[in-house]
Amino acid sequence: MFCPNCGLKMRQTKGSYHYTESGLSNVVLTGVTIRVCSCGEKMPVIPSIEGLHRAIAMGIVKSKTPLTGEGIRFVRKEMQLKAVDLARLLSVNKVSISRWESGKEPIGHANDKLMRLFFMREMEEECKQMLRYEVRPLLENISYKTYKAAQIKIPMDKLKTGALTGPPLC
Ligand SMILES: [Zn+2]
Repeated sequence: MFCPNCGLKMRQTKGSYHYTESGLSNVVLTGVTIRVCSCGEKMPVIPSIEGLHRAIAMGIVKSKTPLTGEGIRFVRKEMQLKAVDLARLLSVNKVSISRWESGKEPIGHANDKLMRLFFMREMEEECKQMLRYEVRPLLENISYKTYKAAQIKIPMDKLKTGALTGPPLC
């Protein structure tokens, strides 16, 4: 594999990677193979973007900190919804969606929780099985004292094979 930046041969290593390509500032992939170049270029080796993004979206909806703008946008896109469609589903104005996603306005507790349940339910419909996850402790323990998102760690070497290659989370 040659560096897309300078053309030199890249070496391979294993470690953690701050996955900002996701559009999220708080996602770290651990145990991931990384291609490294002496020019500074770094690229993670991701077997399935689809599977990884599904795992990240699950990480977002399971986090104990409120959904942030970038988190809302990520989950919405995972559900393949346009902002206008999400607005219709939540019975809010589409301007609200763009204000939430740009961080100009917090989503509000009820819509925060609804987004999470909505995503999990859609996963279940897609996988035709129940997620083994209890929602009550999650909903009870979200702390709305801070609007800074907790870090989401995705253990790439521990994700079950299906999550990265087959139908995600099924
Ligand atoms: Zn290079």
